[in-house]
Amino acid sequence: MTERIGIVGGGIVGIAIARALTARGVGEVTVLEKERRLAAHQTGHNSGVVHAGLYYAPGSLKAQLCAAGRVLIREFCQEKGLPYREVGKLVVAVDDTELPALAEIERRSIANKVPRLARIDDPAHLRDIEPHVAGVAAVHSPETAVVDYASITEAMAQDVRAAGGTILLGHGVTEITVDGDTVRVATDASEHEFTRLVVCAGLQSDIVAKLVGADPSPKILPFRGEYWALSPDRTDLVSGMIYPVPDPRFPFLGVHFTRGVYDDVHVGPNAVPALAREGYGWLTISPKDTWESLRWPGAWPLAKRHWRMGVDEISASLVKRLYFGKARRFVPELRMADLEAKTASGVRAQAWGRDGSLLDDFAVDRIGPVTVLRNAPSPAATSSIAIAEHVLQHHLDLAAT
Ligand SMILES: Cc1cc2nc3c(=O)[nH]c(=O)nc-3n(C[C@H](O)[C@H](O)[C@H](O)COP(=O)(O)OP(=O)(O)OC[C@H]3O[C@@H](n4cnc5c(N)ncnc54)[C@H](O)[C@@H]3O)c2cc1C
Repeated sequence: MTERIGIVGGGIVGIAIARALTARGVGEVTVLEKERRLAAHQTGHNSGVVHAGLYYAPGSLKAQLCAAGRVLIREFCQEKGLPYREVGKLVVAVDDTELPALAEIERRSIANKVPRLARIDDPAHLRDIEPHVAGVAAVHSPETAVVDYASITEAMAQDVRAAGGTILLGHGVTEITVDGDTVRVATDASEHEFTRLVVCAGLQSDIVAKLVGADPSPKILPFRGEYWALSPDRTDLVSGMIYPVPDPRFPFLGVHFTRGVYDDVHVGPNAVPALAREGYGWLTISPKDTWESLRWPGAWPLAKRHWRMGVDEISASLVKRLYFGKARRFVPELRMADLEAKTASGVRAQAWGRDGSLLDDFAVDRIGPVTVLRNAPSPAATSSIAIAEHVLQHHLDLAAT
């Protein structure tokens, strides 16, 4: 029997899976993407960092697939002539209170075999790497890189098409019916019958999972991250990437400086609750999405636990001076006018349990012939090619083909 495999979602993860399947010649492969272009959501709205694996719990899927994925993304960029720049990352403790958390990042980095990692305890040495930084200690990952994930996704999509796969844009999936070994899928523009379906719907992954009858938990509670551009005449303040020591109680990495692949420097992202899953500013409000988030039982314990941080992040989103204050901790020469404009934002598809607990690791569920990626937040772009190999090997039973 010829396999007919459908993939929901034309972000980097869905397209990487389609590419892995078509490269193996596994039957017919069709990607259904609701937008008129690929990479329209998280994949085209992120920091563009190829993470080297500093943060993730050793042994987790994130740790394993980030390490493997980093190498695969680098090879892919080399093969396609796409930019890949190892600008390096410095995670900086600004004072002694942050040293225990920095030590934990160092421990995880060593366990995750982050290449050429170095611990720096001499502030003067910090400034050899980042001349304008202030801090008491840091870990340095020289192989952390930057790329353009939207271009990578387009290049992967070209491989999919060249190998006979089909990518249908403007085909939003509205209904999924599992009937024995057959999966019937209706979109707003077409109907399909597949033998397998893989759902990589990012911010909508829980909603699409519900169409298959999956448990509503974990749920995506959307958090927006906003970036400010550093004015072009001040980009020399940053050579590579300068990150804070992340707060271990919170899943996001904190406002940082990143020299992008096209030499722009951006500051961010923060983390504020998004009032629409695909809302890229405060003025985009979806009453449905907001109501769905508010009535999720897990939202309340989460809000109770993190309300101080929430107020702090929202205030800094609305008041530039407060955002500037967060960034200036590491780069004292930064002036408010150097933050030129809020230029970009992205919404994270982070999954949370019913009790408000964070689902930290990547998560893949299987419901008969349907495989659903339920949690693929950062570093899923870095890990995308490795996630594709993992899904093929462990969730599609196609290894023998
Ligand atoms: C602010 C921010 C910064 C980040 N920084 C980094 C970073 O530096 N490095 C890194 O590795 N990762 C980073 N990430 C995470 C990374 O961007 C994501 O993990 C990754 O892009 C996930 O890819 P995806 O294909 O699963 O999701 P997406 O890119 O969101 O794609 C999902 C696709 O599914 C489509 N879809 C949804 N519902 C339907 C439907 N019903 N029918 C058809 N199509 C549907 C959507 O339109 C979308 O195109 C960041 C994320 C954010 C938001």
